[in-house]
Amino acid sequence: MIGIKQDKCDFCGTCVGVCPVDCIELSDSHIAVVHEICIDCDMCIKICPIEVLYKAE
Ligand code: SF4
Ligand code: SF4
Repeated sequence: MIGIKQDKCDFCGTCVGVCPVDCIELSDSHIAVVHEICIDCDMCIKICPIEVLYKAE
């Protein structure tokens, strides 16, 4: 499961672009992962420039 440090995100949208199943929802002030769709590929964790996303169990 992907964890999100919500207060760190600058909503740049980079992670949305790499998600192969399009399960990251982003607005101007909030980011969310639809866990039911996420395939845990970790691409978003690797691409986020400021380490907002992390592997959460
Ligand atoms: S890449 Fe990181 S900083 Fe950018 S929107 Fe995604 S989680 Fe937020
Ligand atoms: S782990 Fe993969 S499938 Fe899940 S939100 Fe990140 S990029 Fe998308």
